[in-house]
Amino acid sequence: MKIILLGPPGSGKGLFAQFLQDDFGIKKIATGDILRKEIRNKSKIGKKAEKYVSKGIYVPDKIVLSMIKNKIRRIKNFTLDGFPRTVKQAKFLDKVIKVDKVIHITTNDKNVIKRIANRLQCGKCNRIYNLITIKPRRKGICDICKGKLYIRSDDKIVKTRLNVYKREIKPLIIYYKKKDVLEKVNGNRHFNLVYNDIRKLIK
Ligand code: ADP
Repeated sequence: MKIILLGPPGSGKGLFAQFLQDDFGIKKIATGDILRKEIRNKSKIGKKAEKYVSKGIYVPDKIVLSMIKNKIRRIKNFTLDGFPRTVKQAKFLDKVIKVDKVIHITTNDKNVIKRIANRLQCGKCNRIYNLITIKPRRKGICDICKGKLYIRSDDKIVKTRLNVYKREIKPLIIYYKKKDVLEKVNGNRHFNLVYNDIRKLIK
């Protein structure tokens, strides 16, 4: 099964993609995580991408598309978190694979800003934690892989990221509505309730 999660920063895409991976073995593919790894490794892609990611704007398609192409060709069941973000990326994806479900997680800005202010991520396995709702058992340490938790530097510019998202999402929603694969989930609730709905949709 090939699933796409759409939603603003802080809507829980990464968290739910991780849950789907843990529960059903559906591989989480998060373009943001891949880009951050490239940036950490100071690779050629990383060096190019850093200027955009640090400003909260989208990395040019040329970089993102070549990065994702080989990954999605090789894997049968996956959830895409953070891709596609534009209609151009969606059209590219349609040429490579057949998408089964697109789940749009809706949220309000207040919730998103609060969640991001409390978000932590594991530097090793990319698991997402929250200082209020999903606390790690040991402060600053990942429960699963014992990696170190960190605060994403682009979380400080959440408002810019939200604006960029809002600009690009409308045409993308229209695109998937026309294809009849779009489902909507209210992401303003406790993550267990949101995840329950997502699970029902993919069964
Ligand atoms: P969020 O869900 O909070 O937007 P991500 O971790 O998905 O965060 O992405 C972080 C950053 O990585 C984005 O702000 C953008 O600069 C870059 N990025 C991730 N995915 C894409 C993509 N599909 N196209 C262009 N840029 C991307």
